Amino acid sequence: PLQVKRSGDFYYPIYFEEGFEALADAIRTEGLDGRKMCIVSDTNVAPLYADSLKSALSSVASSISLFVFEAGEKSKHLRTVQDLYEKLIESELDRKSLIVALGGGVVGDLAGFSAATYLRGIDFIQVPTTLLAQVDSSVGGKTGVDFNQYKNMVGAFHQPRLVYMNLQTLKSLPDMQFACGMGEVLKTGLICDGTFYHFVCKHQKNIQALDLELLAQMIRRCCEIKAGVVERDPKEQGERALLNLGHTIGHAVEKLMDFQLLHGQCVAIGLVAAAFISMKRGLLTENEYQQIRTGCELYCLPVHVSGLDPQKVLAATKKDKKMEQGSIKFILMDGIGKSFIDRSVTDEELLSGIQEILQ
Ligand code: NAD
Ligand code: ZN
Repeated sequence: PLQVKRSGDFYYPIYFEEGFEALADAIRTEGLDGRKMCIVSDTNVAPLYADSLKSALSSVASSISLFVFEAGEKSKHLRTVQDLYEKLIESELDRKSLIVALGGGVVGDLAGFSAATYLRGIDFIQVPTTLLAQVDSSVGGKTGVDFNQYKNMVGAFHQPRLVYMNLQTLKSLPDMQFACGMGEVLKTGLICDGTFYHFVCKHQKNIQALDLELLAQMIRRCCEIKAGVVERDPKEQGERALLNLGHTIGHAVEKLMDFQLLHGQCVAIGLVAAAFISMKRGLLTENEYQQIRTGCELYCLPVHVSGLDPQKVLAATKKDKKMEQGSIKFILMDGIGKSFIDRSVTDEELLSGIQEILQ
C-alpha cells in the first residue's frame, strides 16, 4: 500500500485492490480489528456492495451495523448526520468503534464528519467507490456537509485510519461519473506532473475500458500527488491552494448552472479557462493550450458552456474568492504540469478566460 502521513509520525495506508478480500488483513495490520463497526453508504452503492463488504468484515468486526441514506448531494447535510448519530447510539458504538464509509465523496464527507464529531471523534476508514472519491476526496482529511445553500460550510479535518479501494467497483459507475473523476485526474497532472498528464492522455482507450492495472497506476499517482501537497500544507495556508486549479471559474459555472452540470465537468471548463488566461500571459504556448482542451475532450468532458452571461460568471467567480479574505488567489499554469498561485489576475483577464469558455 501507499503510506500517507496522518499527523506527527503516524501514517495510514491506501490500498489499491481488486475485490474486498484483502480488507480484513488490512484492518488487522492497522490494529483496527475486534471493534464494533458501522458501514455508512447510499441507496445506489449499498445494494451493490454492502453485502460483500459485510462478509469481508465479518472476521474482523465484533458487530456490524449498516446505515444507508438517499444517494445524492442533497443528503449531504446535518439532518442525515443526526440520523446517523441515532443509528450509532442505537448500535452502541463507542470510542473504540469504527465507521466504514462505502461510497463516493458524499458518503465519505458525511461519514468522515460524523466520525470526527461523534463522541468527540472516533476512527473511520474510507472505501471509496467513485473515481472522484478515489483520486480526490478520500485523501486529504477534509470532511463536512453542506449548510443551507452553502457547500461544505460545516466540517472538520479528520484523517481516515485506512483507505481501501476495490477498483472493481468502478465497473458499475455511470460513464458520466467516471468522466468527472477524470476531470480531477487531468487537473492533478496539470498541477505538477506533465509526464503523468501525457500518460493519461496516451492511454485514454485502455483507461476508459477500465484496464484495472492502468487504473491502479493512475489512481495511485493521483493519491501520491495529493497526499504530498496535503502533507506539506495540511490546513491550506499555501501550496494546497494549487489543488484548486480549474476550480475558481469552475465553481462559478457550477453555481450559475444551478448544478445541472456535474462538478468534474465544471472543473474541465475551469481548466480550459485557466489555460486560456495562462496562454494570454505567454505562460503557455498555443499548442499547450490545445493539449489541455484535447485532454478534456478525450475524456468526454465539456470545454465550453452556453447560456451564461459573462459578467455574471465574473461576479460569481469573484464572490467565490471573497471567502478567502478578499485575496485573489488564482491558479495559473506555466507549462503542462507546472502551476503556481497568482494574486494579480485582473478582471479583464478573468473575463477573457470566461469568454473563451462561453462560446
Ligand atoms: P457521490 O458520492 O454523490 O457519487 C456520485 C454518484 O455515483 C452517486 O449517485 C452515487 O450513489 C453513485 N455511485 C457511487 N459509487 C458507485 C458505484 N461504484 N457504482 C454505481 N454508482 C455509484 O459523488 P462524488 O462525485 O463521488 O463526490 C462528490 C462529493 O465529494 C461532493 O459532495 C464534494 O463536495 C465532495 N468532495 C470532497 C473532497 C474532500 O476533500 N473531502 C474533495 C472533492 C470532492
Ligand atoms: Zn474538485
